[in-house]
Amino acid sequence: MTYTTEVRAIFDALGVPPPGDSPGGLEVRTPLDGSLLARLAVTGEAQAGAAIERAAARFTGWRDLPAPRRGELVRAFGEEVRRHKEPLGRLITLETGKILQEGLGEVQEVVDICEFAVGLSRQLYGLTIASERADHKLLETWHPLGVVGVISAFNFPMAVFAWNAALALVCGNTLAWKPSEKTPLSALALNGLLLRTAAALGQESAGLSEVLIGDRAVGEALVAHRDVKLVSATGSTAMGRAVGVACASSFKRSLLELGGNNAAIVCPSANLELVVRGVAFAAAGTAGQRCTSLRRLLVHREIYPALVASLVRVFGHLPVGDPLAAGTLVGPLIDRRAFEAMQRALGEARAEGGQVHFGAREPVGNDAAYYVRPAIVELATQCGPMLQETFAPILYVAPYDSFDEAIALNNAVAHGLSSAVFTHDLREAELFTSARGSDCGIANVNIGTSGAEIGGAFGGEKETGGGRESGSDAWKAYMRRATNTVNFGSSLPLAQGIRFDV
Ligand code: NAD
Repeated sequence: MTYTTEVRAIFDALGVPPPGDSPGGLEVRTPLDGSLLARLAVTGEAQAGAAIERAAARFTGWRDLPAPRRGELVRAFGEEVRRHKEPLGRLITLETGKILQEGLGEVQEVVDICEFAVGLSRQLYGLTIASERADHKLLETWHPLGVVGVISAFNFPMAVFAWNAALALVCGNTLAWKPSEKTPLSALALNGLLLRTAAALGQESAGLSEVLIGDRAVGEALVAHRDVKLVSATGSTAMGRAVGVACASSFKRSLLELGGNNAAIVCPSANLELVVRGVAFAAAGTAGQRCTSLRRLLVHREIYPALVASLVRVFGHLPVGDPLAAGTLVGPLIDRRAFEAMQRALGEARAEGGQVHFGAREPVGNDAAYYVRPAIVELATQCGPMLQETFAPILYVAPYDSFDEAIALNNAVAHGLSSAVFTHDLREAELFTSARGSDCGIANVNIGTSGAEIGGAFGGEKETGGGRESGSDAWKAYMRRATNTVNFGSSLPLAQGIRFDV
């Protein structure tokens, strides 16, 4: 079976209409061997506007349904996703190149966030606040926003949408989704399953969640549309800067989940065996193409030679190859541009005097596929390409002497997504997670930088954009807050002691 026919079989298994063939349309290629998976019609500006208007029209009916009833759709959708975990996971692997275990893991995240959102649908709570006036009630209530626009990156083609959609839907919003132009099939499959589930429940599916196919131009049209009330955008910092400014200029809400340049500090007391496993997964897993991938390893000078030697040994044997094959741990890079960016960064590191281990192309697949052995780059100090996010498997390693210096190095980059410390010293662990420690949205102890659970709020500071998605109280971003004062007495006392007798 070719990958193209496999994609069609997956859509059949899901009971979702297969993607049509549009000559001259958007070409979707698999990073496994560069072959064509589909040619999709690009959503034109007028079509995008019409889709968003459908979502806006659907909003009022959806908003008026009680939240626990909205949760019924999300529960049924999560069950459908669980039932179809295998084909959905394979589709993710075919489109992104991540290994099948990680493709399946991403589908599990979709199931998990649906379960979280179902519980949330009965817990959309506001506060009551002590009023300064007699016979008055002061409270806050939360209301849906309208159409939530989702822009997603290639590397989590289903989970990012689900993090947004499950919460946005139970909060009473409808959706317009602009997936990455590199992974639109995952979007059509997952969204198709959502709409099929809605129809099976007797709910009107049109306008509930619209998919817009295309590149940044389609994303720009989504951001500009007046009916989109919140733009939740996941991708590079360059994209977030453009989207953030466009939203700000029309006072539109934005939730930005952008790049990361994540570090881990390894202290002398750390369990080095655990460090090696944690670092290998965080740096080489998903071929270094997670926003939370580990890119900078700051190692105490005392343990530096032993740890780096172990890491070089492990990276030298990482099974790189077909991501659908059992035993593979590292699949291909998404495309040639990613490979070139990686080689450029390695060249810059060499120019800085860095010692580069691995990072070259592996003899897997054909000329149109970019399989690489994850690289380790030793630098005497944190500098040059170590200060930027290169979306590829490069682990920069630099030594440090004092823990305060390590924290300063951790924080000395533009991004602020994820961070970790490996230590058995309670004071170091507490300091790292305190206000004087890591300045990132995620600060872990004795675990790597990647692989967040859906129960916590996810996101980062500085050039990572400041947004929070997924668990905790991230749902509040998908609602607007109203403060209500209710007078149940028979006089009209004014606040601040003002008298205004007429
Ligand atoms: P990208 O920025 O190239 O594209 C992301 C999405 O934005 C795509 O759908 C693209 O079409 C769209 N887009 C690009 N420019 C736009 C614009 N001006 N207006 C509207 N839409 C626009 O990112 P990518 O290569 O797909 O993904 C990799 C990047 O995403 C990395 O930087 C990674 O760290 C980041 N990422 C962050 C998170 C997070 O949660 N923080 C998660 C996944 C990926």
